[in-house]
Amino acid sequence: MSVLSGSVAPNPTEPLGRYIQRVRSELSLTQAELSQKAGVHVQTIRKIESGNTGRLNQKAKSGLAAALNIPQEYLDAVVKQVPIERVTTLKFCPKCWTPGTTLDPMWTTVRSKYCFACGTQLLSRCWSCNEPILSLKFRFCPHCGQSYQQTESDLHRN
Ligand SMILES: [Zn+2]
Ligand SMILES: [Zn+2]
Repeated sequence: MSVLSGSVAPNPTEPLGRYIQRVRSELSLTQAELSQKAGVHVQTIRKIESGNTGRLNQKAKSGLAAALNIPQEYLDAVVKQVPIERVTTLKFCPKCWTPGTTLDPMWTTVRSKYCFACGTQLLSRCWSCNEPILSLKFRFCPHCGQSYQQTESDLHRN
C-alpha cells in the first residue's frame, strides 16, 4: 500500500464528487469497494461522484471519512466549500492520543481546548517545533522527529 502519495486534503475549489473520486482512486478503490468499506450504498457514491448531490448525511460522512482515511472535517470543508483551515482542527491530547490512530471527535470540535479525559491542553501542532500536524498517520513529526505523543517528563520540560 502506498502512503503519503500526494495530498488527500481537498483543494479549495474542488467539488465534493471530484474530491471523493480523487481520494478513492489514490487508494485504488473501486466505487463498489468504497461502498463496502464505508457502509454507504454504491448508488449514493455514484450520485456523489457524479455531482448529483453535494450533501452528506452524518452516516455517509463518517463512513466515507473512515474508508478514505481522511478527517471528517475535510468532508465538511468540501461540502461547505470553505478552506480546510476553517473547519479542520487536527487537535489531539498529547497524553491520550496514540499517534497513527484516528482522533477522538471530542478533541476536534472547534471549541475544545482541553482533553475531556485527562484535562491536558490539546495540541494542533508539534509540541516541539510548532509545525502543524500534517497527517494522522504520522507517529513522529516529519520536521523535527519528535514523537507526537508526550510522556510525563516531556510535559514537565516545557
Ligand atoms: Zn487526555
Ligand atoms: Zn516537530
